[in-house]
Amino acid sequence: MSDPEPLVTTQPSDAVRSVPPLLEAREIVKSHRNGAVDVPAVRGVSLIVERGEFIAVTGPSGAGKSTLLHLLGGLQRPDSGELHVSGRRMDTASETRWAIERRRNFGIVFQSGNLLGDLTVAGNVELPAVLAGLTPRVARARRGRLLERLGLTDRTHSDPRQLSGGERQLVALARALVNEPDVLLADEPTGSLDSHSAREVLALLGAFRTEGRTIVLVTHDARVAGNADRVVSLFDGRVMDDARLDDEPAAGAKRGARGVRGVIELGG
Ligand code: ADP
Repeated sequence: MSDPEPLVTTQPSDAVRSVPPLLEAREIVKSHRNGAVDVPAVRGVSLIVERGEFIAVTGPSGAGKSTLLHLLGGLQRPDSGELHVSGRRMDTASETRWAIERRRNFGIVFQSGNLLGDLTVAGNVELPAVLAGLTPRVARARRGRLLERLGLTDRTHSDPRQLSGGERQLVALARALVNEPDVLLADEPTGSLDSHSAREVLALLGAFRTEGRTIVLVTHDARVAGNADRVVSLFDGRVMDDARLDDEPAAGAKRGARGVRGVIELGG
């Protein structure tokens, strides 16, 4: 019999691991300036995200979830602490280095969506692929597959401003996935979706992670969190709990199986 897995995550020490974790935050701290006051948002978070993990970040409003996601994607810099991406120190990296890192390896979806109004839905989804140097033909093919998967083919040539909030959220997700990133960072990706679209998103995320990719998402949605490997709960800028949801003993075998199981459970 193998030892039972601990409820609170422990990570392999540097001495036993052969590859560095995909993301590692060490005691990161971040405050936001609000007029004359500093508002603490993240107050010393240490977090290791392994390649292939699906982590749901939960917690009440104001707990620091969005700020943590911004820090992990290099969109904000910590006031103190360190951030490492695949073993490379990134909290001190230049904006240019971060921009390259994000373009190559990160897909990021934030609540505001930030779709470009001057471009059609197709243009918005294809843009990161074109900027990353893919040929227009490959960019179009990927865009076509993603929009079809999300039930948005008939919106391909629409102006994003004509879409519903939920549709815009789906387009933002398609745009984040078009470069087939190593890691997806998403803030409430099902927040304004009806249950059918939420299931489509979960199915897409399930497929994404069975390819060995990594997901860190902020969610209030118990169905979404229930599909994760780990749930990290923040409260007042700190990690209150870091629980593994695995209920099967063999870590390697279960990872692929969970992705498929989650999709099937929610697909009906
Ligand atoms: P959550 O995503 O859990 O709701 P946030 O990371 O958005 O939490 O916010 C954490 C704290 O930081 C909150 O007190 C919030 O008001 C504050 N905050 C977040 N962004 C800003 C900002 N741009 N300017 C000032 N305060 C901010």
